[in-house]
Amino acid sequence: MEFKEQTACSLFRLFEQGEISAVEIIKNFREFQGQRDKDLKAFVKTSWKRAEKKARALDEKRKRGEDLPPLSAVPIAIKDNIARLRETMTCSSNFLKGFFPGYSATVVEKLEEAGALIIGRTNMDEMAMGSTTETSVYHPTRNPHNLGKTPGGSSGGSAAAVGGGIVPVALGSETGGSVRQPASFCGNYGLRPTYGRISRFGLAAYASSLDQIGLFARDPDDLWRVFGVLAGKDKKDSTTVSGKGLERKGEAFDPEEIRVAFPREYMELVEDGEVEKRTFEVVEKLEKAGIKVEEISLTDPKKALGVYSVIATAEASSNLARFDGLRFGKGIEGEKNWEELIKKNREVGFGQEVKNRILLGTLFLSSQYREKFYDRAVQVRKEITQELDQLFCNFDLILSPATPMPAFNLGSRIESSLEKIMSDIMAIPGSLAGLPAISLPMGLNSEGLPLGLQLMAPRWKEGRLIDFSQFIREITGYREELKYFSEGGSE
Ligand code: GLN
Repeated sequence: MEFKEQTACSLFRLFEQGEISAVEIIKNFREFQGQRDKDLKAFVKTSWKRAEKKARALDEKRKRGEDLPPLSAVPIAIKDNIARLRETMTCSSNFLKGFFPGYSATVVEKLEEAGALIIGRTNMDEMAMGSTTETSVYHPTRNPHNLGKTPGGSSGGSAAAVGGGIVPVALGSETGGSVRQPASFCGNYGLRPTYGRISRFGLAAYASSLDQIGLFARDPDDLWRVFGVLAGKDKKDSTTVSGKGLERKGEAFDPEEIRVAFPREYMELVEDGEVEKRTFEVVEKLEKAGIKVEEISLTDPKKALGVYSVIATAEASSNLARFDGLRFGKGIEGEKNWEELIKKNREVGFGQEVKNRILLGTLFLSSQYREKFYDRAVQVRKEITQELDQLFCNFDLILSPATPMPAFNLGSRIESSLEKIMSDIMAIPGSLAGLPAISLPMGLNSEGLPLGLQLMAPRWKEGRLIDFSQFIREITGYREELKYFSEGGSE
């Protein structure tokens, strides 16, 4: 049996039925990760010993005939900005190297209670700022479908780990596209939940009004299972809500009841012919299957991108002020006064992208520019949110490509940063509005690179996203086109 081809749900089943032990699972995945990650470099740290200890305990539990929680023996990776006790959390930044958080994130506690085996921490863009995982202080991560391409970002390590068969499921985080964009580049399903659905306690903040923990998987059912474990009210994050609408119709789901909106302005941003062709192909297949897809008009997402740049950098400049070299940091001492000390620590600790964003955000919040930029952006954000909410009075889902292009070359961050920013454009309006959205496989292009489709839903309707994704999988067969486990991958 190829362990790496199993989904989280099937691993759980095999373990529950006693066909395989948790220790065997860990041994097998460890071996594969050892080989595969030499190429992919998806991880910044592994925790096999801890996972093995947990696996032994799970095997004992099963032998005793006790109830097995829903993620028992499922290997999972977490992004390096999610806190776990007794493990460094660095956000792939020089600033936080050697930092041990004094607590675990709520999601980590929930995963552990659910029996998951956390096998390591994945690479990311520094402080979750970027679209290629190249701003990481460690190393770039590579795309499992083509080692010369980026996996996307900022959660590129998690996307590559899932796309490369190292884990069936991984956690990432999204501010404006950092789960959906890399999921699309690596051929995964990537879910951004409704804002307030999953606790952010223990997630290092980038822009708090936008940040959400998101999930990667190769299968919609896996996403749903992990989502079910993580969702819910948390005392430690006052933006969370209780289990509102946490249901999925599953077998009872009737796709013909779904009215799909297809925004013209999103398609106009697509310059890649194959992305365009595939998207229209999906629309055609949906229509053939009896689904109503209606072309509609929405505010140009470029406007949302502008709003995002202001709000995200403004919040980042405030959130990252805590990194001062006193509470966190490199511990550089011997400066004349505390101002010099903070300056020095920040100079050495942060990379260029992070510095740029802090500077921009500071400018947007300065008394001179606040009204012109920040206040205006907050206003337009409200308008975009209202427009989307309004649209959902008449439609159940909004469909578009997940990204206007496939994965770009490694190093292209330097070549074209506009292209980089544009890769998140489909994701940003939903992020601003706090809506749930999913990116799902739309097959491969002629170069063998995955393409992704995006679905957006009204708040708390993640179940609908999963059900409809499953339906699209069945009528298109795109997911089955992907060859995840072709060892190596070419340049
Ligand atoms: N790529 C986007 C950016 O760099 C989104 C980042 C994110 O969602 N964390 O801002």
